Amino acid sequence: MCHGAPCKHPTVDEFAGTISERVARNQSTFRDANERIERTAAQFIEVEQVPFICECPRRDCTEVIRLSLAEYELIRGDGRRFFAASGHETCVVEGEMVAKVVDRGPLFSVLEKVGEAGHVARELDPRGLSGDG
Ligand SMILES: [Zn+2]
Repeated sequence: MCHGAPCKHPTVDEFAGTISERVARNQSTFRDANERIERTAAQFIEVEQVPFICECPRRDCTEVIRLSLAEYELIRGDGRRFFAASGHETCVVEGEMVAKVVDRGPLFSVLEKVGEAGHVARELDPRGLSGDG
């Protein structure tokens, strides 16, 4: 084995060494990529997509949005944040801005209530207050 040290045999071995080195490098690159893919896939299988109901202001809305628990927790971490199906983003109610889109995705958007609506949302957040008012 020639560990980094230059080979004493020039011509053929040098050529073979170059090829095998290239192959090894290619395999290493592909392996790294596959390792990443496998890890990503494992995450997707582990974290199931959970059907949540659209949180837009429309009372008759029955849209179901599938979120991973991690995504859901991320949104729920802030009492002012909520999610709505794409196209259901309602930022202005009766001329007043009540929310802004903080993250727009292909299936759903994350919105944040602003102004008075934000305060109310925080007060109504079941995780925000321990006491019952
Ligand atoms: Zn909706």
